[in-house]
Amino acid sequence: MSKNYRAELVGVFGDPVEENPTGVMEEAAFEALGLPFRYLTIRVIREDLPAAIQAVRAFGMRGINLTIPHKIAVIPYLDELTEAAEIIGAVNTVVNEGGRLIGENTDGKGMLESLQENGCQVKGKNLAIIGAGGAARAIAVEAALAGAKKVTIINRTMEKARELAEMIRHRTGVTAEALPLVPRAPVPERTDILVNGTSIGLYPDVGSKPDIDYAGITPEMVVADVVFNDPNTLFLRTAQAQGAKTINGLGMLANQGAVNFTLWTGKDAPKAIMEQTLRREFGLG
Ligand code: NDP
Repeated sequence: MSKNYRAELVGVFGDPVEENPTGVMEEAAFEALGLPFRYLTIRVIREDLPAAIQAVRAFGMRGINLTIPHKIAVIPYLDELTEAAEIIGAVNTVVNEGGRLIGENTDGKGMLESLQENGCQVKGKNLAIIGAGGAARAIAVEAALAGAKKVTIINRTMEKARELAEMIRHRTGVTAEALPLVPRAPVPERTDILVNGTSIGLYPDVGSKPDIDYAGITPEMVVADVVFNDPNTLFLRTAQAQGAKTINGLGMLANQGAVNFTLWTGKDAPKAIMEQTLRREFGLG
């Protein structure tokens, strides 16, 4: 059989990208399955994004991740958006389908996958999401598209919460409500799934947690956090003390990487290896 030295290229464009661990996780997965894929972590400054997307086409790259500051700016340069990416209004993953660049958003899909792995279906459930930024927005939209009964957005900047709730109602038909993140904010009644979608608790701010009334968390609830470094957040530890089942942000990040892996390679991702690799990168053993 003749040899094939050609690499299938994927990667991430962002600025800064130096501390982005995605490449290590994806490369470990490619190696585990013996796939000729390479994941490149590439610094692309704002002004160079159009040329960089042109390079994706010229190199016939299988796809690319986008991070700060390109998630919204990339949209005009793509050929198509998935429904979720279009509603969310941001793209973190591009798939090159025979020269057509398709924009997807896998931020929320990772969280839904983590919930599902823990036996928690979103369909028919009441979700309360703290935060209204990129991660919260992606989770809220995916939950609505997956058939959630109600989505409540609790955010410090009330205007952003209102805008997101209104957009969910308008675009998905799912009941959505906005509440302010005031001190000791109540957990909405009948919440099934509570998510911290803010950056509160992210290293080095590990002693902080969203200022909600934790007494409102019950053992029947599933409580999840987007923060992955350190994944054992004070938010989750406090929810555990209330008896709730908890899901951390590291699993969400690994699951998001697994969704990307499958979109690019067409193969099931070795999720355990991806999560293990991330743990090692974060010094968690
Ligand atoms: P954004 O900057 O878009 O949004 C930040 C959100 O956090 C806003 O709702 C903001 O409120 C809120 N917030 C921040 N600080 C405070 C504070 N001190 N008090 C109250 N609210 C606060 O960030 P992203 O949505 O992109 O990221 C959020 C977190 O999610 C990060 O930690 C990121 O690492 C993580 N993430 C995890 C992923 C995973 O796979 N596990 C994937 C993507 C992100 P306001 O609107 O009032 O400013």
